[in-house]
Amino acid sequence: MVDLKGQYEQIKDQVDSSISEVINSTAFINGPEVHAFQKELEDYLDVKHVIPCANGTDALQIAMMGLGLEPGDEVITADFTFAATVEVIALLRLTPVLVDVDPDSFNIDPEAIKKAITPKTKAIVPVHLFGQTANMDQIMSIAKEHNLFVIEDNAQGIGANYKFDNGKVTKTGAIGHVASTSFFPSKNLGCYGDGGAIFTNDDDLAHTIRGIVNHGMYKRYHHDVVGVNSRLDSIQATILRAKLPNLDHYNNARRAAARKYSNAFAGIEHIITPRVEGNHCNTDHNTICDTCDCHVFHQYTLRITNDKRDDLVQHLNDNGIPCGVYYPIPLHSQKAYQDDRYNEADFPITNQLINEVISLPMHTELDDEQIDFITKTVIDFVNK
Ligand SMILES: *Cc1c(COP(=O)(O)O)cnc(C)c1O
Repeated sequence: MVDLKGQYEQIKDQVDSSISEVINSTAFINGPEVHAFQKELEDYLDVKHVIPCANGTDALQIAMMGLGLEPGDEVITADFTFAATVEVIALLRLTPVLVDVDPDSFNIDPEAIKKAITPKTKAIVPVHLFGQTANMDQIMSIAKEHNLFVIEDNAQGIGANYKFDNGKVTKTGAIGHVASTSFFPSKNLGCYGDGGAIFTNDDDLAHTIRGIVNHGMYKRYHHDVVGVNSRLDSIQATILRAKLPNLDHYNNARRAAARKYSNAFAGIEHIITPRVEGNHCNTDHNTICDTCDCHVFHQYTLRITNDKRDDLVQHLNDNGIPCGVYYPIPLHSQKAYQDDRYNEADFPITNQLINEVISLPMHTELDDEQIDFITKTVIDFVNK
């Protein structure tokens, strides 16, 4: 599904020498590399504060702790996403409220958010799923109207540009009150271990969060709030510094691969290619143009509409082609997150998508020969 080795080969000399420098400096934790990376990512995203931490799940949890959300507060998020998003809400004894998604973008449906709002609602967590920006115009306006926080889960969307209806362009993660991301190796900006970060433009919130990641300390050995221990180490930071200048190039390579996939699948019955809606740059949302930078294709996900998705998975596996089903079970059906308040009729789209979606190999090193082989194998099977 990913080719981390091929990408490493391109930056090997730089990565190897900077890792040895960190080892020689012995500044393993909170060293100059972490601060330099933080600054460089702030500049790249055009966000005031980046607070590095240990992983993307911690980043989400710490963002919610920083906002001072309290047990019983309701937090609305998508039913169709990775479990980390709902996990931290539950862990903090907040009440997760899962809502359905949009069938074209796979992202949280603003109409479903509106219906789920109660007097206890305190926050919305949009996930920029598979790398496509959620509808932030509508989400920010709902949040404003109801006085809610917006926490962007940007683990899959780093580098994407959101174009507002008024034409303004902002990087994902710099739009809501606070955002989280993950540097898990297979993410678009991945390190060689675990890593994550929190972003915000709010100075006070940034200050609060800097204490929370460090045991709630604002002054050494003075613990003002209950915190956690969540750090990005210097070796991961130095790897991320080598990769950050290439992030746009990496995302362009993903988009180019996605375009080749979509062109090959165009017009094939029973296959729905990903729609790219946020770019406002063309009328045919099924084609992916050079300027579609509202989607960074963390995953390239098809919908197979003839009930043969599972057979296709088997067929691809038999032909040595990796693929993935993200995600096979809606969060509202997971044992850990079941709740009497949910009604199956509220999740028609998620319940459909879990049977249709299949994600194909997607990384920065895919070549034409591989894409041809993959698309031919898929089309031969679906046409059979
Ligand atoms: C990967 C991911 C996370 C969690 O990140 P980790 O670094 O693995 O903890 C959270 N949310 C989404 C949507 C993700 O894809």
